[in-house]
Amino acid sequence: MTGMMQRIRTFFTPDIPDEIRDEFVRASACQMQKQSRLLFLALLLTTPTAALAAAPGANLWVRYGAPAVMALLCLAGFLNLSRDLRLSVSVRRAQAFIRQATIGSSAIAVMCSSWCVYSWLGAPLDERIHYPMIIALGAFSTAYCLSASRAAAIANLAINLLPMLVLLFTSGDRLNLAVGTSLALAAAFQLHMIHSHQARVIELLSLQKSARELALSDPLTGLLNRRALIDNALTLGLEAPLRLLLVDIDHFKVINDTHGHDKGDEVLCKVAEQLAIRAELMGSVARIGGEEFAIMGRADELPEALALGLLADIRTAAMPHGGTVTVSVGLADGNVASEDDWRDLYRRADAALYEAKHDGRNRAVQAPAATPAKRPARAA
Ligand code: GH3
Ligand code: MG
Ligand code: MG
Repeated sequence: MTGMMQRIRTFFTPDIPDEIRDEFVRASACQMQKQSRLLFLALLLTTPTAALAAAPGANLWVRYGAPAVMALLCLAGFLNLSRDLRLSVSVRRAQAFIRQATIGSSAIAVMCSSWCVYSWLGAPLDERIHYPMIIALGAFSTAYCLSASRAAAIANLAINLLPMLVLLFTSGDRLNLAVGTSLALAAAFQLHMIHSHQARVIELLSLQKSARELALSDPLTGLLNRRALIDNALTLGLEAPLRLLLVDIDHFKVINDTHGHDKGDEVLCKVAEQLAIRAELMGSVARIGGEEFAIMGRADELPEALALGLLADIRTAAMPHGGTVTVSVGLADGNVASEDDWRDLYRRADAALYEAKHDGRNRAVQAPAATPAKRPARAA
């Protein structure tokens, strides 16, 4: 029973992995905005033909009133969707847009479907067959434009086609029966196409996400890599002065030489874990080289005492090779508004790290404050 319910649910809404849900919603809303805008324009251009297509006995509302209301709705829709709705930056807006588009397009479908059913019932027998054609072409184009939302596309196909299919199948005419069958099959194919298109979009977004993660993370420890650290620094540097801690394992080569490279890798992972536990919530933690790590964050959020805490954490942690590991730390603070500023901050932290190594390792050294950049001399 739950399997059945699950199938029904995924018929209307696709199964989207949590990590790409927001991206999927934003991408769907943007696609719907672009395509629905074109759809409104196409409908605006075709609604006047409804006056020509109305059945001979149709009243004024059906002949002119309904098409005029439709044309106005389409014009309003086209103008509304021509604005920048900022759907690519806000998930909340994107969700609201998809909801409104589903309701709005369903309301328009009710009008079109009622118009066609009414016209079929009032038309001479030899003219009836035009109405299934009109509603089918409209239904398929609309479903294509709404295909980013399964629920919207299915609602439109159902509202537009089901009443007409009932008329075709119950008319007792063999040609109508054949038309109805082809229509139903075409609708089933379009639904299948919408399902597989969405499955491909989900697959592509998942691949894109893992490619991005791979490009920005260190494969051994799962921490950020150097590139990601620089990107974060350039973004965070716009908000506040930064603090950078460079952490280098002491005599790591000896661990490798004594216990083997694989054990060395396990030690690297353990040190990475210790750094992440203590500092991840305060800043970005990255592996920037073989046995070198970095912690970067706002200077007012990364306490200076963090370095001492790290030294103690790592010195007392149970390490995979059964021995003790110590690290040396170099700290520097500075403003980072450009890659040059970042290089300067890094150079000063590295010099402090060198000093910590030189002074005997297993310690932290703070770099002196940056000397303010010289102002260019004013022309007299
Ligand atoms: P110091 O206290 O001066 O930092 O000495 P050290 O031995 O830690 O530094 P050194 O630069 O002499 O050696 C670093 C070693 O780290 C050499 C290299 O083989 C090893 N290494 C680099 N990347 C990896 C890695 O991914 N896995 C393992 N197991 N070892 C690595
Ligand atoms: Mg080292
Ligand atoms: Mg090193």
